[in-house]
Order: sequence, then structure tokens, then C-alpha cells
Amino acid sequence: MIETKEQDVSHPTQRDAAIEQIAANLGVRAERGKRFAELTSLRVGGAVDWVLSPLTEEQAATLVHGLEQKEIGWRPLGSGSNVLADDGAHHYVILSLKELKADPVFDGARVSVTAGYSLPRLCIDSARRGLSGIEGLNGIPGTVGGALWMNAGAFGQEIGTVVETVRVARGGRVIEIPGREVKWNYRHTSFQEGELLLGATLVLHPGDAEEIRARMEQAKGQRMATQPHGARSAGCFFKNPPASAIGTGKMIDDLGMKGTRKGGAVVSPKHANFIVTEGDDARAEDALALAEEIRERVRREHGIDLEYEVELWSSSQNPER
Ligand SMILES: Cc1cc2nc3c(=O)[nH]c(=O)nc-3n(C[C@H](O)[C@H](O)[C@H](O)COP(=O)(O)OP(=O)(O)OC[C@H]3O[C@@H](n4cnc5c(N)ncnc54)[C@H](O)[C@@H]3O)c2cc1C
Repeated sequence: MIETKEQDVSHPTQRDAAIEQIAANLGVRAERGKRFAELTSLRVGGAVDWVLSPLTEEQAATLVHGLEQKEIGWRPLGSGSNVLADDGAHHYVILSLKELKADPVFDGARVSVTAGYSLPRLCIDSARRGLSGIEGLNGIPGTVGGALWMNAGAFGQEIGTVVETVRVARGGRVIEIPGREVKWNYRHTSFQEGELLLGATLVLHPGDAEEIRARMEQAKGQRMATQPHGARSAGCFFKNPPASAIGTGKMIDDLGMKGTRKGGAVVSPKHANFIVTEGDDARAEDALALAEEIRERVRREHGIDLEYEVELWSSSQNPER
């Protein structure tokens, strides 16, 4: 997600001063000198100009409006568990949602939650109240905003199916839109680039707390048994092809690619659709080269073009270029 409008703060110094001013006016923490390697679960990726961390939905809405008025490019980031950013210098603002994490408000089967709140934590909170509908998502290590953005799903559940409304930032205000107006597809939604998701109200289903907890544990157990645990990954790298009877992981495994390495990136020996990074010298270009090698092999052997599930962020798409 990136704004590509022309900068009206043409010089980097003017732009930096404008960013600092906008953040200071709102009392938003503004940090410099961060790298994607610190911000994403793959632990690779280049330098980021600025990281701004709003604390409330209103603050976040005002903040992006201020940036847009100055035509300063920005991208939202949650936990960074589905992003591979390249090794170059990324000259735009990262709007980190991780501090936007007020406690969810439950009202019967409804829960209102902010974008930066942890999805696994929300699953646990809901299960404790005997609310079903998202217990299968418990092991997805990201924020609610990131889950909404790509309609995260697992074990037969997807977040989009329980969304009543989504709060978004428009014109400096917090606007609520009905969930039924959003297209919730397989790891993809109709949210447009430049849309900042601030929070959502979900409607869950009352059920037996013990049974919900048991389903959550079962999903967790299955995940632990089939996926690398504690490794630096971004989950499944590629989507499952819609017309294929076999999943992507099995396809890559059948090609004998588990354990294949490029520099600091390895096809996980546990799950072939996971690329993990290892060591201090791992680079985004290693992961990308390995991913492209997998795509090439799958194209050659199966005639299938794998689609990335992980988002690739390129520094050459910097808005001021
Ligand atoms: C071990 C592991 C297992 C995983 N298993 C699964 C799984 O089973 N199912 C699944 O669906 N995913 C899975 N994932 C991928 C990932 O966890 C999910 O996609 C998650 O929902 C991403 O949330 P995030 O906060 O980390 O988003 P980020 O990675 O920070 O961002 C992802 C995208 O969402 C956008 N975004 C984030 N927040 C906002 C916001 N507030 N407003 C607008 N855009 C926003 C970002 O700009 C980016 O484009 C897994 C990842 C790992 C590491």
C-alpha cells in the first residue's frame, strides 16, 4: 500500500521537517534509523526513513491526513509477519499500528477491537468468553489490522466472515463501513491501496467455552506439528493454486526442495511452503532468489504460476522517485 502522488515537500530535509512537525503536533512517537530487519518476522530488509506510531484511532486518522496533505508517502505495518521488504533504502513513512492496541470491548457476542491488537490474543479473549468463530486463527502471529487487510484464515475460518463493520481513516476522520461492502476473498480483500484500517466490530457465535478451547488447542497442536516453530518466517510464502488438487507445500516438497538454501534463506525442512531466514547475514535478496527458484521449478514441472501470499515491498517504488 503506497501513495504515489508527487511530493510538494520536494527536498528530503523539508520532507523530514514536515514529518517531524506533523508527528510532534499530534504527540505521536516518530523514530528514525529503523530497518525492516527489526520490523518484520523474516528479520531481513533495508532501512526505513521514519516509523510513526499513533496510539489511538483518531490520532492515526489525523496523522495520515496530515501526511497526505503534504503528499508524503506512507505504508501501514502491523506485526510485519506477512511482508518481505527488499534490502534497499525505503524512503517513505512506516505507519506502525502496533501501539494502537486498546483492550477489546465485548458486548454479548460483539467485540470492538483496534487494528494493532494481537489477533492470537483476541482469539484467546473470545474463547474465554465462550465466543466462537475465530478460534482457528489463534496461531496467526499478527495484528487484527493485518488480518483484516488480507482476510487471514486457517483451519476453515477466515476473519472476513465475522466482520460486522470496519473502521477506516478517511479525510482525517474515523469512518465505519459495513463488512458486507468489503469483498473477502482467499487471502485478499477489496480494500484499496491508501486505505488505513483502524479497527473493526466482529460478531461471534456463543458456544461452549470448553469446546472452543479444545478446538483452539487442536489447531495449535496441528500447527506445531506441521510448521517450523520459533523460526524467522512469514508463514506460507505462496497461495495454494485455485485449480490444483494438491497444495503448494506438497508440490514444493514433491520437487525435493525442502532444505534448499540460498545464502541465509532456506526452504523449511518442516513445511516446504515456508521460507525461513537464518544468521545475521541473511538478506531479503536471498529469500527472494529462493522464492523465484521455487516458482521457476513449479512452473516447469507443473505449469503453474505460484502467486505470492507474502507481500513484496520494493524500495524502488519509493513515492518520491
Ligand atoms: C509462523 C506464521 C504462520 C502464519 N500462518 C498464517 C495462517 O495460517 N493464515 C494466514 O492467513 N496468515 C498466516 N501468516 C501470515 C500473517 O501472520 C498474516 O497475514 C497476518 O494477518 C499479518 O498480520 P500483520 O499484523 O503481521 O500484518 P503485516 O505483515 O504488518 O502487514 C501485512 C499487510 O497488511 C497491511 N496492513 C497491516 N495493518 C494494516 C492496517 N491497519 N491498515 C491497512 N493495512 C494494513 C500492510 O500494509 C501489509 O500490506 C503466518 C505468518 C507466520 C510468520
